[in-house]
Amino acid sequence: MSDAVNRRDLLTKGLPAGMIAGLGLASLGAAQEGPAAGARQQQGGQGIVAQLLKAGYDGQQYKLPKLPYDYDALEPSIDAQTMRLHHDKHHAGYVSGLNKALEQLERLRSEGEASGLEVNGLTQDLAFNGSGHFLHVIFWDIMAPEGQGGGGQPSGELAEAIDSSFGSLQNCWDHFALAAKKVQGSGWGIMAWEPHADQLVILQAKDHQDRTAWGVVPLLVIDVWEHAYYLKYQNRRAEYVDNFRNIINWESVARRLSNARQLRA
Ligand code: FE
Repeated sequence: MSDAVNRRDLLTKGLPAGMIAGLGLASLGAAQEGPAAGARQQQGGQGIVAQLLKAGYDGQQYKLPKLPYDYDALEPSIDAQTMRLHHDKHHAGYVSGLNKALEQLERLRSEGEASGLEVNGLTQDLAFNGSGHFLHVIFWDIMAPEGQGGGGQPSGELAEAIDSSFGSLQNCWDHFALAAKKVQGSGWGIMAWEPHADQLVILQAKDHQDRTAWGVVPLLVIDVWEHAYYLKYQNRRAEYVDNFRNIINWESVARRLSNARQLRA
């Protein structure tokens, strides 16, 4: 694939759903909520892939999506300064790193003289920055201001999936929160949809890219890198995780589950 058009054509026409999920691309739903969301659910798999071009990808390069709320909208759970630094600096760094890794891998292919060391290094950069970008896109999207889309509890298809996978919402939350609190070092707590059994599973990510189960589609993610909470909570990660529950946008999580299941169909 030597140009962006080919890459886009492959995404929209030829990439199997399982491969999309494996790449983490299926998790890149639009970070912006709005009137298009309902229509998007009607569009099926092709529509979801098309949305990738509007969220974390602009058709030529990966891009930083806009936050769907103000920097201070998630207070008191997450403070404005943390949000600003997290989105504008940390996430932007992953976008830049991902684009650079892909550009340099393309250069190596065109020069035809790649060493194993170069390929290894750039492939690690691709996995780290790519996973960082994809997870942050989801993270911004599945949060909303408390009482204005954030908090409450899931309903409908998502509630049923949670009950059948974990027994109850409380079991699900207890498991998810404990996984997030206990990530060793930097990482994520992740609730993902596993397409083979059509069930939800809870994972931890170490950094961004380690400890995944290939093929799953992340639906609900919490960033537990220190940059996500340290300014406000210092070492009290558990308190940050507990407060995160107040700003979960369950409707976004449900939309992601619905979209993921359409990719499977
Ligand atoms: Fe982060």
